[in-house]
Amino acid sequence: MKPHCAKCKIPGKEKACLAETGGRGPEFCPTTNHPDIVTKVTETYQIPDIGEFARLASVQEAECYANRGPGPYVMQPSKSRLQETVEFAGKIGAQKLGMAFCIGLHKEAGMLSDVLEGHGFEVISVACKAGAVPKEEIGINDAEKIRIGTFETMCNPILQAELLNREDTHLNILLGLCVGHDALFLKYAKALCTVLAAKDRVTGHNPMAALYTMHTYYQKLKDEDFGGR
Ligand code: SF4
Repeated sequence: MKPHCAKCKIPGKEKACLAETGGRGPEFCPTTNHPDIVTKVTETYQIPDIGEFARLASVQEAECYANRGPGPYVMQPSKSRLQETVEFAGKIGAQKLGMAFCIGLHKEAGMLSDVLEGHGFEVISVACKAGAVPKEEIGINDAEKIRIGTFETMCNPILQAELLNREDTHLNILLGLCVGHDALFLKYAKALCTVLAAKDRVTGHNPMAALYTMHTYYQKLKDEDFGGR
């Protein structure tokens, strides 16, 4: 069966993916159904760079909780994602950071740049509109623009990636790229990437807010006529 962990109803520590021994999973459980793939993929972490990157990500993960000690432990999250990002970039020994940002977050990009440079990183940043390529180049017509009938430049995530690739950035940070543009950036970027903020035009770039309120104030998300398929 195809994996579908999002539908798993096995309680907490009884889950096959959480228990040290004797865990269980539903019929679509990838842990119990695909031990061969688990073994094969785990070998990837033997690649020195990848393994070390993964190890440091896990070290950083744990360090985002305060007052840890031998269990039982009630989690005390203590670090913002921004702090997590700065610390992680330092941990992996990054010196040159790429920043791919949305022009709509230009001010925030400047603030982020100041923070990163204040911590000793070199920052290379590229806005989404860099290149000034008209939207017509990718087949957008006037009616499909934001401001219909005007000149608009396209978001150019492949250019963002290419310019950061040429700088041999050690880690790229995405700041507010649109859905789809982010996907292209991630496909074409050479360095590993992390997302500081995902674009959300109505929630202050907090896309989870729509999910958290979908059973109350944002019920229209469940409406068949809302969009999607
Ligand atoms: S890996 Fe298995 S046990 Fe874990 S969440 Fe997915 S389905 Fe549930």
